[in-house]
Amino acid sequence: MSVPDSAVGDEMKQAKEVEDAEKYSFMATVTKAPKKQIQFADDMQEFSKFPTKTGRRSLSRSISQSSTDSYSSAASYTDSSDDEVSPREKQQTNSKGSSNFCVKNIKQAEFGRREIEIAEQDMSALISLRKRAQGEKPLAGAKIVGCTHITAQTAVLIETLCALGAQCRWSACNIYSTQNEVAAALAEAGVAVFAWKGESEDDFWWCIDRCVNMDGWQANMILDDGGDLTHWVYKKYPNVFKKIRGIVEESVTGVHRLYQLSKAGKLCVPAMNVNDSVTKQKFDNLYCCRESILDGLKRTTDVMFGGKQVVVCGYGEVGKGCCAALKALGAIVNITEIDPICALQACMDGFRVVKLNEVIRQVDVVITCTGNKNVVTREHLDRMKNSCIVCNMGHSNTEIDVTSLRTPELTWERVRSQVDHVIWPDGKRVVLLAEGRLLNLSCSTVPTFVLSITATTQALALIELYNAPEGRYKQDVYLLPKKMDEYVASLHLPSFDAHLTELTDDQAKYLGLNKNGPFKPNYYRY
Ligand code: NAD
Repeated sequence: MSVPDSAVGDEMKQAKEVEDAEKYSFMATVTKAPKKQIQFADDMQEFSKFPTKTGRRSLSRSISQSSTDSYSSAASYTDSSDDEVSPREKQQTNSKGSSNFCVKNIKQAEFGRREIEIAEQDMSALISLRKRAQGEKPLAGAKIVGCTHITAQTAVLIETLCALGAQCRWSACNIYSTQNEVAAALAEAGVAVFAWKGESEDDFWWCIDRCVNMDGWQANMILDDGGDLTHWVYKKYPNVFKKIRGIVEESVTGVHRLYQLSKAGKLCVPAMNVNDSVTKQKFDNLYCCRESILDGLKRTTDVMFGGKQVVVCGYGEVGKGCCAALKALGAIVNITEIDPICALQACMDGFRVVKLNEVIRQVDVVITCTGNKNVVTREHLDRMKNSCIVCNMGHSNTEIDVTSLRTPELTWERVRSQVDHVIWPDGKRVVLLAEGRLLNLSCSTVPTFVLSITATTQALALIELYNAPEGRYKQDVYLLPKKMDEYVASLHLPSFDAHLTELTDDQAKYLGLNKNGPFKPNYYRY
């Protein structure tokens, strides 16, 4: 298939010099460089009933962060309360007699299949990857263990990986986001999926373990979103890394953990940081938020935006997307920023840059998008006016100090799903959405097309790591080569009937570029 792999190696050589292929190949490192291997004192600890301390910390991130840093459609049309029996207690088989899965209800498979087919309509890049392979199987022999949101969109990714030759075992990276009917459809299609909406903490780790710990099947690739799966393999099954060719990680948090492992000399396989690829940063963060902020606010509050005073904290990619959408509906948008460059951008885009304290008494809506913590404090919350809406589009549930609202003098009233009124003794109400977790993941859908871009990036990262000659990648964290970012974008252009201009030989020479890309240097910011 026409994945532009030659340039990949070239770019990697620039970014991270491949000094000695043999020395840096994974197997060689395992045997020759024991310092890269990690030891876990509690390897033998029984996991299933008692998640480890680290596990709990990590899980509470998974639970509370709502989606870590990546997004899926939050909509699930099945009611998870319809059956109180835990899927772990049920004996289920698909129509082919396989019981190699654990989902809420296999009978929902047909409905889930329709959801997947709808998602496929807007994920033509992945479908075209399947077609371009034309019988060639770039993932033949790949055994991918995955931990992502399980939604119609990720189902399209998983089925693409299978169509390209991979075997997959999959669990959910978030206990709330699984679309049960989609998990059922995957199980019916033969994917070993272990996930349902509303898993307990224990279920969460049990599902991950069922994916990794399987007699006669050993993973050789990891696709993770949030780092929990990678953490589990490191902790419980470090030997699995002898066969793993690479990790593809999508979230900010997971990538951060990989860099920490790398810094400590403990990363024992190459890893691809999908989160920081241009195709994710620009599209997931900017366009996804531009599309989903209003949806989340409208569904939960029925608010009208025209003339409303809004403050958006943080004018990075997410903030820019939110502000563009709010401005288009006539909201009066104020920005808070710590960075003079982003603050100047906000000014040039026509927004007022203020301190939160200066506007907190007047605003109708407060939206955090900083990736930081305690941006909205109890003091701010105390000063807000009656009916002020507070929500977060940034990092997990750290941006708004929600914990400070759990005090005896304040009353919490759940008025709708994901909508709490926090009531002060004088009767003032603050409308808190999704308990400070990511609004768009918790309360709206996220455009399939944006997810397609990220999913295509993940698929290409897996193909690249799986097929890379020994030595191209060391035990380090890599960005997807720009040429591949460009390829992901080009796969999505036909959806718009967009026609790219080709460089003439003369122009290419003038600009010092290869006619086939990459078209920008690594430092280009788009
Ligand atoms: P970014 O770094 O581009 O932007 C964050 C901005 O916040 C920066 O400009 C920074 O200067 C500013 N900032 C930091 N602390 C601040 C403070 N105390 N007050 C005011 N401004 C402050 O990051 P981004 O790509 O915009 O992502 C922001 C967060 O959103 C991250 O946590 C990311 O994981 C998350 N995210 C959410 C979605 C979603 O769909 N909701 C999508 C992508 C990313």
